[in-house]
Parts: sequence; C-alpha cells; structure tokens
Amino acid sequence: MSDASRGIANLEELVQALAPDDRARFERIFKVTTTIGELKAPETMHDWIRKYFGSLEAVQKQRIVKVTNLITLEAALFNELRASRPMEVKDAADLEQTILSNVGDPFCKPLEGTPEDVFGRVKGKHCITASNVAKYDGFHGLVIFDQHNPLRFTADEVQDYFDTALCWAREAHCADKEARYFFLMWNCLWRSGASILHGHMQMTLGRGMHYARVEHLRRSALLYKLAHGTDYFGDLYAVHRALGLTSEDEDVRILSYLAPIKEREVILVSQHLDQNLKQAVYRVLKCFVEALGVRSFNLALYMQPIDSVPEDWSGFPFVVRIVDRGDPNNKTADFGAMELYASSVITSDPFQVAQTLAKALSQQA
Ligand SMILES: [Zn+2]
Repeated sequence: MSDASRGIANLEELVQALAPDDRARFERIFKVTTTIGELKAPETMHDWIRKYFGSLEAVQKQRIVKVTNLITLEAALFNELRASRPMEVKDAADLEQTILSNVGDPFCKPLEGTPEDVFGRVKGKHCITASNVAKYDGFHGLVIFDQHNPLRFTADEVQDYFDTALCWAREAHCADKEARYFFLMWNCLWRSGASILHGHMQMTLGRGMHYARVEHLRRSALLYKLAHGTDYFGDLYAVHRALGLTSEDEDVRILSYLAPIKEREVILVSQHLDQNLKQAVYRVLKCFVEALGVRSFNLALYMQPIDSVPEDWSGFPFVVRIVDRGDPNNKTADFGAMELYASSVITSDPFQVAQTLAKALSQQA
C-alpha cells in the first residue's frame, strides 16, 4: 500500500492486510466501521464549497471511519473533511504577547499569591507547590513552575515537575494515610481548562477509590486479562505497532491512539515512573509544541495507588495521556454534545501524528 493510503480513512483495508495474529489481536480490541456520507448541494453553493473544501466531489461523498475500543468503549469518528470546514476567523491576537502581558500574576510570586498545604510546600529545582484555593478533592495541590510561559520547558524542568508532584503526594499521604489515589494533570492555556495562564500542573490525592475514568481503565484491563489471558496494555501497543502507529523511547511505549478523546491524542505506557518516562513525556510535548504547532493541551498521569488498597491493580502500568485542545484563538469549543454524550469527533489523523512523532523523536535523539 502506498504511503498516501496509509491513513485513517483506509483503516479497514490496513487491518485486512495485517498478519492473521495481528488482525485477530486488533479485532479483539477495536471495531472499525466505514461509511460514506452523501449530499446534494445546490448550484448556488458550489463556489463556496470549492473555496472552502477544494472540490465539490470531496463534499458530495465523504468517508467517515468509526473506531470503537471494545474493551474501554472509547470511540472516535474520523472525517478528514471536517478539518477544512469553515470556522470563525481567528482574531490576530498574538499569543506570545498575551502570555507576556500576564507576567506578574499570582503564580509569579507563589509565596504571596497562593496558599500552602497543611504540611507546607514542596520546593523543587524549578518549581514550588501550593494548595489549590477551590479544591476538587481533600488534597488538591499545584506545581507552580518558576517559568511563567507554559509553552517554555526543558527536559530537566519537566522531570522536576513530576518529581515535585510525587514528593507532594508522599507528604499528603503522611498527613492522611487514607488518601492513596494520586492523580497528576497539566492543563496548558485556557482552552484546556487552565484558569491561570502561568505554567503549572495540578495534582490530587483521594480516598476511597480512584477517579471514575482511571478505575474504569483498571476494570477494563482486568476483564480483558480474564477473557483473553493476555495483558491489555501490551496488546494495545502491539495493535498500534502492527499498523505503524508507535514509537519507542528507551523502554517507554508511545502510541498515537486510534480511539482518541480529542485531537492528536498520544499515550505513553511504561512499567516505571523513572527518568526514561519523564524524558519521553518531555520529548512528546516538545514535538507537540514545535512540530505539531500545539498551543493548548491536557496531560494526565494514571498510576497505581501509592499505598496498599483492597482492589487488584497488579499489572497496571504508568500511563500518560496527552491531547491537543486546539487553537487558543478559536472561540468554538472543541467538545460538544457528541464528545460529552456520544463519541468523539476527530479531524486529525493518528497516522500523521505517529509519523510526525517518529520523525521528531529520531531527530531529538
Ligand atoms: Zn506568571
């Protein structure tokens, strides 16, 4: 198959062409349905359609690929045409200027502008923790970066942010032994939900059970192992690798996910939360910002509880999920009723993301 046809629009054909073992593994995890959407446009619309979508034919017959992860029931609807649909015209506000004009925000002086946790602050090499003012859990903290600009980060800094967050989790656990479920997230710029522009991560340490999405993934992987006798995360990676959707960075497995929650979702899987994983996160983020032009993103870390709990977490790896939240100048929200209540509608092609990522990672090496 030529390179041009190695795209999400041809996923069904690509799966048909896999070796029998790979295909069986793919079909255990994913279901793919391809359909054609057709329409008849009046003469009066033809010029407009050609101007925005290139050709009349591209709009009159549109290929839509629906990918469902049968194990987690995550699903995506891919239609490349939607990438070129008309959106509100961007205003010319220069993002860099906006970021600069916010210097002097409360996070620029965290000791004066933010509260501390009951156990105090954890000081990293390039950051300091704070207690979140309006909490979503008993322990809800921030890693406030020394660097104001959230799009400027080095490998050393990213590693330090993770280390400081984990140190915070241990402090919080010492303060409350019942709090065991750690969740780390990074919302970058306002489209991702960040209310403060200044670079920061957030983390929580919860009681009772993990957050619903994390618990759902644990249960899904456990049921997969019971049903098929193999490891879900290993098989998920193997399926993506067979299709050319993966990269490896030391022992970290990086995949361009076929059922992304939103645009360009990349998942990193590792058995250890070590330097390799933190470096790989940095390298993927660098590729997001520099090669893919991402400005606003969400990052989440899923991991086992930090102390013993009754339920079975054996084999659950460290999972980092990173997703592009779109152009900060765009007023149209990327999440609508489809994403909230049905399936995610995606315009980016995981095959293109994988290619860009593989190239960027090999150049960074
Ligand atoms: Zn600042």
